[in-house]
Amino acid sequence: MRAHFYFDHNATTPLAEEVLVAMSAALRDVCGNASSIHHYGQIARQRLEQARRQVAARIGAGPKEIVFLSGGTEADNLALFGAASEGAHVITTKIEHPAVLNPCTRMEQVTLVPPASDGTVDPDRIQAALRPNTRLISVMHANNETGVIQPIREIARIAHAQGALLHVDGVQAAGKISVNVDELGADLYSISAHKLYAPKGIGALYVRQGVKLRAQIFGGHHERDRRAGTENVPAAIGFGVAAQLPIHHDRMAEMRDRLEAGILARVPDVHVNGSRVNRLPNTTNLRFNGVEGEAMVIALDLRGFAVSSGSACSSGTVEPSHVLLAMGLSAEEARSSVRFSLGESNTIEQVDALIEAASESVRHLRRVSTYTHA
Ligand code: PLP
Repeated sequence: MRAHFYFDHNATTPLAEEVLVAMSAALRDVCGNASSIHHYGQIARQRLEQARRQVAARIGAGPKEIVFLSGGTEADNLALFGAASEGAHVITTKIEHPAVLNPCTRMEQVTLVPPASDGTVDPDRIQAALRPNTRLISVMHANNETGVIQPIREIARIAHAQGALLHVDGVQAAGKISVNVDELGADLYSISAHKLYAPKGIGALYVRQGVKLRAQIFGGHHERDRRAGTENVPAAIGFGVAAQLPIHHDRMAEMRDRLEAGILARVPDVHVNGSRVNRLPNTTNLRFNGVEGEAMVIALDLRGFAVSSGSACSSGTVEPSHVLLAMGLSAEEARSSVRFSLGESNTIEQVDALIEAASESVRHLRRVSTYTHA
């Protein structure tokens, strides 16, 4: 069978070995409910609080500021619905993940700020969108499709000068670059465990001490009344272990740059989507003019490489990426884009093999499309 190599770490990551070992033991041994007062409950509680300290430390927060919940989507929903008071105006951007954009469609007053053509959100545009009743601004730390990192500190200053809160969707940033919520000035910060080598189905929302948040799920008094439901302690333990893993920023950037340079050197008419200056070290989004992104994904899959096109498949048609459209690309350009996102398991040898496979796939697809369109 052909070996398969995974270059889609922004979609999700495999479990780290350390996480698997810790979780397997926890699934076997930590069986209590963290709310029970007996021995089993106390063990579960201790392990949950240890995990909370580990996750907090990853982003420079205090443990009491961490709310465990089911993942990035729930963290974004809790931040938006929990922090935006009734009648408040909310500012966000056109390049957010659907986990932010879709909740915003259910809010009364929302302004969607477009990015510049390099995928960066200009703080001046946020400033210009302010209204007297702006109470919440939500901007992602790093974009999942392009990897572009946003000027969060400047946006935080604008939010706070207005007396508004800043929510940052940090799902793609945490685990890939170092994050400190105080330095960023974030009041709320979303993280998802499955993007940093921990399991799916758990995440966290950082809530700065003193920030008032209305719970969105009601039941018992879990998570200091901010999120009801018996805590998933084994998953939290895995999340805590993953939060302590080192970030290999330079190694990722070296492999990503090699991949990008290798493809650009071999294939004509390829362009990098988004800023190459402020970008996650593991991500590159390439536009292969004259080639369908979906066809590239399939061609590379057949050659043993998992990558992603930013487009979403809905009701049988391929919708171009809303992120790339917002950056000013045409629908055709957006549809010819492919995201490569690297991670811990990748090697230079895999990168070199991917350069070859991508070059061959483009050559083949361009030949076929000239033939079929002739
Ligand atoms: N926000 C961003 C930027 C993401 O990339 C994702 C997942 O792809 C999410 C939120 C949703 O996170 P989850 O899959 O944990 O619900």
